Amino acid sequence: MKGLESLFKLIDELRKLPGVGRKTAERLAFYLLKSQRGEVEALARAIIELKDKVRLCSTCSSITETDPCNICSDKNREKNTLCVVEEPHDVFAIERTKEYKGCYHVLMGVLSPLDGVGPSDLKIEELLKRVRDNGVKEVIMATNPNLEGEATAMYIAKILKPLGMKVTRIARGLPVGGDLEYADEVTLTKSMEGRQEM
Ligand SMILES: [Zn+2]
Repeated sequence: MKGLESLFKLIDELRKLPGVGRKTAERLAFYLLKSQRGEVEALARAIIELKDKVRLCSTCSSITETDPCNICSDKNREKNTLCVVEEPHDVFAIERTKEYKGCYHVLMGVLSPLDGVGPSDLKIEELLKRVRDNGVKEVIMATNPNLEGEATAMYIAKILKPLGMKVTRIARGLPVGGDLEYADEVTLTKSMEGRQEM
């Protein structure tokens, strides 16, 4: 159909979002077309504001609007326990359990030789620095329970253990190959509680 380029452009953009196929993208586009201008503007503004305001915490690399983030600057959080995760959304998953009282360290990915991701592409140096500077007593490896997640946990554990701290791995309660972000709170809590020394 010619003469509706703006509509097709929006549909194309929406289709790039995770979990949105052609039909859903069309439905969303027609919904927005019917919506009040104010509502559409609020949505557009929220998206831009997200990109403008949210950045990475310079300490833990989780996402935040203030630096350091709320967790790193919270005096009640245990600074000598670090939970190492792959992505900022994993922090949200563990925070939802409301059980964990330590701090986090986000790697911003996992080791993946096939995709060309090596140790220097992850926040491993930063982790070592934190561990050395802050007298960290335990590092909990909470990477995802798949091949790459396990390999990354092993790699980091090997570097950390000679430094004399406890290095633990979250328990296998999580479905193999399943991501932390999809685990329910009870499973995640059990997985953290059942962590074992590596
Ligand atoms: Zn932080």
